[in-house]
Amino acid sequence: MISNKMKSHVGAEGVIRRMFEAGIQMKAEFGAENVYDFSLGNPNVPAPDKIQESIKKIVDTLPPGKIHSYMPNAGFPEVRVEVAKHLNKIYGTLYSEKNIIMTAGAGSALNLLMKSMLDIDDEVVVPCPYFAEYKGYIENYYGKIVEAAPRADGSFLPDMDSVAAAVTPRTKAVIVNTPNNPTGVIYPESVIKELADVLRKKEEEVGHPIYLISDEPYRDIVFDESKYVSGSGADNEEIRHLPWMPDYYDDAIVAYSYSKSLSLPGERIGNIIIPDTCDGADELIGAVTTANLVTGVVNAPSLMQLVIARCLDEKSDVEFYRKNGEILYDIVTAAGFEAVKPQGAFYLWVKAPGGDDNKLVELAKKHHILMVPGSAFAGPGNVRLSYCVARDMIERSRQAFLDLGDEY
Ligand code: PLP
Repeated sequence: MISNKMKSHVGAEGVIRRMFEAGIQMKAEFGAENVYDFSLGNPNVPAPDKIQESIKKIVDTLPPGKIHSYMPNAGFPEVRVEVAKHLNKIYGTLYSEKNIIMTAGAGSALNLLMKSMLDIDDEVVVPCPYFAEYKGYIENYYGKIVEAAPRADGSFLPDMDSVAAAVTPRTKAVIVNTPNNPTGVIYPESVIKELADVLRKKEEEVGHPIYLISDEPYRDIVFDESKYVSGSGADNEEIRHLPWMPDYYDDAIVAYSYSKSLSLPGERIGNIIIPDTCDGADELIGAVTTANLVTGVVNAPSLMQLVIARCLDEKSDVEFYRKNGEILYDIVTAAGFEAVKPQGAFYLWVKAPGGDDNKLVELAKKHHILMVPGSAFAGPGNVRLSYCVARDMIERSRQAFLDLGDEY
């Protein structure tokens, strides 16, 4: 018999799983080339060549004890030194290995942070819409997710009054995600500054730190960085970057993943950056490191840590995703739907006519198009299309979208 808690998670998972299963069935019935599957966020750009080369080199040259053994729970010190150096080069920061904890992807990073911060009934504020797993990550540690509404202007950026209203004395953290899954929206610097101002005021009011956890698996999948950059690196293509959250808020923590930026989701590798400016930084670093151990992760995969240290300058084919997003946006809007113009990540967020996302998903299935209802991301009235898919599938889906549009 499974726990009641787990039952609720299994139910929530159902939507995407049902879509996945519907896809398998449809492909068997109508032929894979006649099904347009936009349901999953599995990167289809291959990992950079240097990843394979590094794996081979490491396996061929390092002694087995070095590759396959336990290590400090935060990860290989020399890998963390390289990650810190890489970040310092880009963001002009002064991190050392101490500030970096290697993790089994961003999913694990967020779990370690929740495990370290939450007591029973502590609250975590999350602006809507959001990555569906956050609820599970928070509830794993008996915390409560508190949703904050997006702005009413259709930008899908967080509404600051709603964020402020969501904070209570039980609030331990706010999780934001930019570039965003499911909307493809990027927070401009002005929004980050507003958010930091709101949280600083709230910290004073509640009398304890409120950590701003920036979940950034898509940080390196940005289509027009010049729109967002400021300060150091703005003129230098090599180190151009989105605003770095800890530059704006002392209690900011970054969760990063190589799943999307280097197409390595199955390898489970990422990291957490806890700057010294964070309230109780040393204690938190110690707690997160121990959380790696007590949650049974123990440490991030050792081979992948060594690979990442050699591939920090590698990049995904962002242009491929940008072009996919542009083509899909044109197809969907030509079919009469309203959508958010893609800014980063690889998701198109489309308004469901009449506000019924489940109806749109069901009608789309009739035309062999698979998408995920926005309700699964606390964004009802919209649907998510993942465009980390083959270009020709997007092109082939054009007529199906036109036919779907005609149904409205
Ligand atoms: N956060 C967001 C917003 C995501 O979209 C994902 C994966 O899709 C994750 C976290 C988890 O990624 P990882 O594979 O690094 O655990």
